[in-house]
Amino acid sequence: MRKISAHLILDGKGNCYSKGILTLDTDGTILEIKDTKGELYEASGIEFYSGMIVPGFVNAHCHLELSHLHHAFPEGTGFVSFLKTVVDSKLNTPDNIAFEAERADILMTKNGIVAVGDISNGTNSFEVKHNSKIHYFTFVETLGFAPGRAEKAMEWARVCVKRAADLGLKASIVPHAPYSISGQLFEAVATEAIHAGLPLSIHSQESIEEDELYQTGTGELVNHLRNNLSIDTTFFHPTGESAMRSTLENLPSQNSLLLVHNLFTKQHDLDYIQSVRKLSNTWFVLCPGSNLFIQNRLPDIDLFRRNNLQICIGTDSLASNHQLSILEEMKIIQLAYPHISLGELTSWAAFNGSKALNIDNWAGSIEVGKRPGINLLTGLDLSERKLLPGTCIKKLC
Ligand SMILES: [Zn+2]
Repeated sequence: MRKISAHLILDGKGNCYSKGILTLDTDGTILEIKDTKGELYEASGIEFYSGMIVPGFVNAHCHLELSHLHHAFPEGTGFVSFLKTVVDSKLNTPDNIAFEAERADILMTKNGIVAVGDISNGTNSFEVKHNSKIHYFTFVETLGFAPGRAEKAMEWARVCVKRAADLGLKASIVPHAPYSISGQLFEAVATEAIHAGLPLSIHSQESIEEDELYQTGTGELVNHLRNNLSIDTTFFHPTGESAMRSTLENLPSQNSLLLVHNLFTKQHDLDYIQSVRKLSNTWFVLCPGSNLFIQNRLPDIDLFRRNNLQICIGTDSLASNHQLSILEEMKIIQLAYPHISLGELTSWAAFNGSKALNIDNWAGSIEVGKRPGINLLTGLDLSERKLLPGTCIKKLC
């Protein structure tokens, strides 16, 4: 049993305790939260830390299997040229994928991340996830813009889900993005999803080019599909609508859905989303580090707040980010949106992610009975409750 205290404790659900005391069982389960109202007296056996305690973080979007691509691509090249570099890199599968995935997993653990919603196109990272201290929910991602690819894509996805299950990993089959999935593949994914009842994820509104594709059938993305992926796109008929309006209805509204990136999302898009599914099982995942890396812009986060959306935070992969750290993503958001409180940021970084991945029974918030992992933030502005560029994280349990 341990008793832990710090200057401040944020519980991840909006409550803040000044010099509160957490009593933890040997496995990290929280047995008691004592609100001292700032009056902490010297008592034996209390570990007191300078800084702020927050719950373990949930990384709602990552691609662990792309960790070997760290430092492989230049920054700020734009969306389609980033896609091309990823496609080129996949042509030769290096043998260091599992090794680099393991390194990234260890770093995420050190960065106070306790759970990850992780995209996989194959099984290369599964052993690492199986052996990890981190809880992984795997989104097995399907790809196939050509309708004839649908069956093969689903076949491979089912092999991956079976392999995941054999290793005790939870996994669902998901579509990659509107510009890489045919109507047939969407339908197959939806049928499987209704049967499995598990959360879904899709890269959504990450680029402006995907709208051009659906609205006019022209532009850089269509050239990418033809020239870099050698896909015959003559079957494709533009809908005249945005990519999201053209595809979102393909995903069953009863399944939880993580919409990832939302970089170009506007109010009319949010109105549309609400017309086809409930907001209560829809999660808006922000990956600000990746958005800056590829396109040097951030989503309109205040728009999401005004609409009371359920916001989560993800790192995306090391192919498009400098590190896999939710704390660093929070710093990026705070710098661009200084009026967002640390309490609110923490709820996105921990509690909302745990709900999106359906693990809020043990993760996401500092509550009696949970074992969410305990992080200590040091080197922050405690009086203003703000992160500073040099704020560090230490995993206490
Ligand atoms: Zn991604």
